[in-house]
Amino acid sequence: MDLYEFQGKKFFAEYGIKVPQGTVITSPEDTLPDMPAGGVVKTQVLTGGRGKAGGVIICNNNEEIKAAVQKLFGMDIKGHEAHQLLIEEKADIAKEFYFSIFINRAHKVPSLMFSASGGMNIESVPKDQIAIVDVNPLLGIQDYMITTLLNRFDLDCKAGIADVIKKAWKLFTDKKLQLLEINPLIETKDGEVMALDSKITMDDWAIDPSIDTKRQEGGTQTEFERKMIPYGMMAVEMDGDVIVYSSGAGVAMATADCVAARGVKLRAIVDEGSFSSAPPDEEGQRKAAEVQKNILALNPKVILINMHFQAGKTDQEAHTLRFAFDEAAKTIPIVARFKGRNCELAMEVMKGSPIFSTMDFTEAVDWAVAKAKEA
Ligand code: GDP
Ligand code: MN
Repeated sequence: MDLYEFQGKKFFAEYGIKVPQGTVITSPEDTLPDMPAGGVVKTQVLTGGRGKAGGVIICNNNEEIKAAVQKLFGMDIKGHEAHQLLIEEKADIAKEFYFSIFINRAHKVPSLMFSASGGMNIESVPKDQIAIVDVNPLLGIQDYMITTLLNRFDLDCKAGIADVIKKAWKLFTDKKLQLLEINPLIETKDGEVMALDSKITMDDWAIDPSIDTKRQEGGTQTEFERKMIPYGMMAVEMDGDVIVYSSGAGVAMATADCVAARGVKLRAIVDEGSFSSAPPDEEGQRKAAEVQKNILALNPKVILINMHFQAGKTDQEAHTLRFAFDEAAKTIPIVARFKGRNCELAMEVMKGSPIFSTMDFTEAVDWAVAKAKEA
């Protein structure tokens, strides 16, 4: 998930990277900051090139700020409507640089990228003006890596830039980021190094809780998928009929494939991931069941549960599943397959449940597929 500039800059400030003082407004009627000497008004949309598209206006006084706000609010920037504006102090730019940390898929490591030609789209900067240095993730960032990155550029503020790079690395690793880009990173006329823009991509499975994901445009996850993340579960929602609910991604995918191969569409694949679904005590099981019940909100036609445990105890999972789905199984076809540790005991626990239980994988899949075709 991509962050807005102001969200990224908040992280920068938390990690000690200098950014201009700013205010975010979410309506053109919001109180504007008093800036008699002017400021910069910037549309907050999840696309680059706002400057070129007219989405950044530099103002010389309060009146100009007011006019810029009226002009920019609701403006369409490459198909993204601006519902939020960032109003910042002006910076006195002496030089503009480019800096980023990205996951280098070719080298399978995070890499640092720097160019002394900042401010413009990095794709249009000639390759020989860009330096890239890989970071060995086991070593983390080392001074020699930064020296190598910067040595061929003639910079007055190397120490300041090196300091930003170290802080950015800490942010990148702490928050498990996929991309951290500062373009432009500037040197001010006073010799200060400052981030004038931010582009951050977070891993969808590791979104920082401080981010209000409901307000984020362009997120690719559904509400249900996001809801399951804090429990450690990984869900993929679709628009078919059968939910595959399973322990572990491999089992989940294999089960889903078998259902799909029989011509039935999936409503969701839910992998319990790191969720602890089989606690030993009734209180824990009832609590875990409340979390499992979330899948009922998807209104599936059939639920196929496949629990294949090595270490976990399937009989304890069986108790949880009964608390979660015994009631629902009176109206929706639900099948549970148990394999691995204590699976005979699990079958005992399921006795008397309206959930159809089996230790046989093919039987479970065939049953679910038949019910889905009937429904
Ligand atoms: P982007 O076009 O979406 O990447 O938006 P940026 O935040 O990078 O802003 C575009 C350009 O506006 C920058 O490269 C700067 O040249 C300019 N700009 C932004 N803020 C300021 C500022 O405070 N002072 C000055 N002089 N220029 C600014
Ligand atoms: Mn930029």
